[in-house]
Amino acid sequence: MAEHADVVVIGAGIGGLTTAALLQERGFSTLVLEKNRFPGGSCSAFRKGGYTFDAGASVFYGFSDDDAKGTLNLHSRIFRKLGVEVPTIPDPVQIHYHMPNGFDVPVHYDQNRFLECLYRRFPHEKEGIMRFYMELESVYDILSSLPAGSLEDILHLAAVGARQPLKAISLGIKTLFSMGGVARRNIHDEELLRFIDLESYAWAVQDAQSTPLVNAGICLADRHHGGINYPVGGSGAIPAALVKGIEKFGGRVLFGTEAEQVIIEDGRAVGVRLSGGGEVLAQAVISNATVWDTFDKLVTDQRHKVPEGKFVKAPSWFQLYLGVDASVIPKGFNVHHILVEDWSRYDELGGTIYFSAPTVLDPSLAPPGKHAVHLFVSAETSQWESYDRQSPEYRSKKDEYARTLISRTERILPGLSDAVELMVTATPQTHERYLNRLDGSYGPLLHPGQNVLRKPQNRTPVENLYAAGDSTFPGQGVIAVTYSGVSCASYVARQLGRPLDYL
Ligand SMILES: Cc1cc2nc3c(=O)[nH]c(=O)nc-3n(C[C@H](O)[C@H](O)[C@H](O)COP(=O)(O)OP(=O)(O)OC[C@H]3O[C@@H](n4cnc5c(N)ncnc54)[C@H](O)[C@@H]3O)c2cc1C
Repeated sequence: MAEHADVVVIGAGIGGLTTAALLQERGFSTLVLEKNRFPGGSCSAFRKGGYTFDAGASVFYGFSDDDAKGTLNLHSRIFRKLGVEVPTIPDPVQIHYHMPNGFDVPVHYDQNRFLECLYRRFPHEKEGIMRFYMELESVYDILSSLPAGSLEDILHLAAVGARQPLKAISLGIKTLFSMGGVARRNIHDEELLRFIDLESYAWAVQDAQSTPLVNAGICLADRHHGGINYPVGGSGAIPAALVKGIEKFGGRVLFGTEAEQVIIEDGRAVGVRLSGGGEVLAQAVISNATVWDTFDKLVTDQRHKVPEGKFVKAPSWFQLYLGVDASVIPKGFNVHHILVEDWSRYDELGGTIYFSAPTVLDPSLAPPGKHAVHLFVSAETSQWESYDRQSPEYRSKKDEYARTLISRTERILPGLSDAVELMVTATPQTHERYLNRLDGSYGPLLHPGQNVLRKPQNRTPVENLYAAGDSTFPGQGVIAVTYSGVSCASYVARQLGRPLDYL
């Protein structure tokens, strides 16, 4: 027996859920298929031993209440449209960077406070620092004044062009530049340029030279406008609210339901075949899986296979979830930290440590007197493939590696090793297994210097098959995949004859 819906979405990551929620609210019947028993993918939470851990993402943009602030404020606008509330707590520091030679920078919400830290260490670069960060502000200023929509939708482009012709042209020109190119035009100090590379690497896992200026114009500017806000109850509150929105308007999310294949007839996607048997037929099929998992697995026609080297495959992660005695985290300690001990290794596997302790903002995520800590470094499946997943060797190797990461983190949190009371480890294999992401990759990246517009949009080579999520424009990050969901929903709604209003 086949089920029918206007739209079927493969995957309840933030990209898939956002697309589904907006289409369902517009009156299209929508069915989301999620292999896991929980929504959110890389932006989900899990409970263990009384703790709630963020499985992946924990730095969130897009939640300002003030529409004059924040790049598009996508989360706030979407939840307002859905009539669903997601209370958040403002985080005063986006990331606290700890680098070699005592170079230590907390990125305060107040931009002047942040820039003062840089001016103090690099007084000779004050002008260049100002010019670089002001250039990002100018990109931000353009982006925050244009409505979100699909760049493949001619009517949207025409509307934006007519409303803001100069800003649209200026944005088009800025897509030609990289963040690193602009930095190097203004700044010469090698240590400062390394910091700027790290500012890029922190979310793009690429250096500044490889990162489009336009993406940096959101991530490095909006933190000082809309700010960074943490959802009460942890990262899982975001997908939970999207599911609530979908269901409120009559849509469905089927958990524990894996899509096996996109059904294609005469070159057009007409539905999805499920792993456990059964089919869902629909006018539009949307894949929230990665480009490799979509075109090398869900679509079996070899003509659509992703050519080797078309994208740079970002690494995956080795992750640690720790329950720790609260006394190890001093009062005033920031939530998010990035730690680099050696500049020559920062972009090698395991070279940069990412740390977050969201219980600093929301103590309800841990038992009284405890903190929940998430610690991770880049990693590849190849580092772990020689072990049998069930073997004691695999467990002890994970444990040993985890202990080295904890011990390295003692540089910012002395006594951490002794404070650990609960530890969960996850290799790239775990990430791959849970989320059906090839090699557990963070996703496809552009080649250095490639124009950001070369990132795939939502249409695919298969008619009626669309894509949303971090394989599509603008890329990785929760706010980015939310944008991709808005763009995908806008395009599909236009195709199905009932366009969305701007958010
Ligand atoms: C460790 C880590 C830390 C991060 N930190 C941050 C951060 O602080 N801030 C930030 O903004 N971003 C962060 N990110 C990035 C961000 O989480 C991701 O870019 C984003 O959540 C990806 O969303 P998505 O919708 O593209 O895909 P995913 O999250 O991968 O979701 C895809 C969903 O589809 C499901 N699926 C796949 N195939 C099938 C199938 N065949 N059938 C059914 N279901 C299927 C998967 O189970 C999954 O639920 C982090 C990511 C990681 C891994």
